[in-house]
Amino acid sequence: MRVRVLLQVVADDGAGVPEEVACFEKQTERSEDLGLSITEAKALLAAVQERTVKVQAAAWIERHCCCQACGARRRSKGSYPLVFRTLYGDVSLSSPRLHRCPCQAGSGPATSSPLTELIPEHVAPERLYLEARWSSLVPYTSAAKLLADVLPVASGANANTLRKHTLRAAERLEAELGEELPSFIEGCPAKWLELPNPEGRIVVGLDGGYVRDWQDRKSNFEAIVGQSLPEDRDARYIALVHGHDPKPKRRLFETLKSQGLQANQDVTFLTDGGEEIRSLTERITPASEHVLDWFHIAMRLTVLEQYARGAAHLDKAAGTRLLEFLESIKWLLWHGNHFRAAQEIGLLEDEVDCLEVEYSHLSKFVRAARDFANYIAANATSLINYGERFRAGERISSCLAESTVNAVIGKRFAKRQQMQWTKRGAHLLLQTRTRVLDGTLRPKFERWYPGLANDNTSASQATAA
Ligand SMILES: [Zn+2]
Repeated sequence: MRVRVLLQVVADDGAGVPEEVACFEKQTERSEDLGLSITEAKALLAAVQERTVKVQAAAWIERHCCCQACGARRRSKGSYPLVFRTLYGDVSLSSPRLHRCPCQAGSGPATSSPLTELIPEHVAPERLYLEARWSSLVPYTSAAKLLADVLPVASGANANTLRKHTLRAAERLEAELGEELPSFIEGCPAKWLELPNPEGRIVVGLDGGYVRDWQDRKSNFEAIVGQSLPEDRDARYIALVHGHDPKPKRRLFETLKSQGLQANQDVTFLTDGGEEIRSLTERITPASEHVLDWFHIAMRLTVLEQYARGAAHLDKAAGTRLLEFLESIKWLLWHGNHFRAAQEIGLLEDEVDCLEVEYSHLSKFVRAARDFANYIAANATSLINYGERFRAGERISSCLAESTVNAVIGKRFAKRQQMQWTKRGAHLLLQTRTRVLDGTLRPKFERWYPGLANDNTSASQATAA
């Protein structure tokens, strides 16, 4: 049998002649014969898209070929070819250039192109969206292949185009970010008290991750990645390339603001205590605290324990004493007894320094003990009573932040994929990737292109009902 698909575009005045857009010879012998093949479906979609876009473009040009002020027809100054890239194929259009109407003399440019005003980017917003979304999840080449697998976009779907389009979307996000400020605390404390009671505490876990440098293949650069978790609203991701991003504080502030941050809201920043991350959290909001993430304390203690066990094999008494010290330090830190913890850490440092064993990792052990003492001292003001918080059901650790680093940087930027990044390329892709991961990319596109929300589903459902 033959399947003919006719398309009829009905104009507002009811005019419109059906026209064949596709014709398929179908046989019915095997399962694969039923329905449309992917090639047929692509051809059908491309044909419908091409006709629809051309009719709409022509109607738009017709509407704009007359002067908006006096209604006189504008003189033509020729036309030029324009390719409109859509999800269902590239459509070649002819874009007329028109002279300004004499009645508008002196205002605006001498000529203009109505079609360029309609599609300044020459790319359909939905294509930009899907390209940005898929490129944020998988490498550019894979995203291009995925698109070409299921959509009639073969010509335009290559890694370079996808990268260009994705970074363009990211740059638009960046352009919307307000300016950087040394402090985002404004207003006066008296006013903060008058604010309505805020929703629960917001916990923000921030950590560093590494991305391989494109310019210097042997080295990495640092990306700061975090997740902001309000008690009863959706989580948001934040990511930036340290040293490249000129607006890290603004970025963090806007993330919190999008979650309903108000000046009297309790915010806990959980970090590894690194200086850069720590300074990022300063002066963002008045009721905030910086807390050293328990995960990082515990991790360092575990390393020290391993060294102490190693030493215990050679000198049982000394090793056991060191393990007892470590146990006690952990207990004191957990229960918020920072003064005694600091004393014990000092004693531990001395003990390790005075160890007289033929332990091959002794110098590393000595260094690790000293580093730990410095680490705790540098973060003295960021230690809390972890046990108490934990029993109250609050977050004290951002395995959270660790898993965020894996989620955000992980697969897309993974070292084993042998991918190298420029700081700019990584930073921009992190912006679309975080939005894809926390579900805020589509709403952003719908704000940029309000028509995206109008997809005819509610209309057809209403008709069906
Ligand atoms: Zn006019």
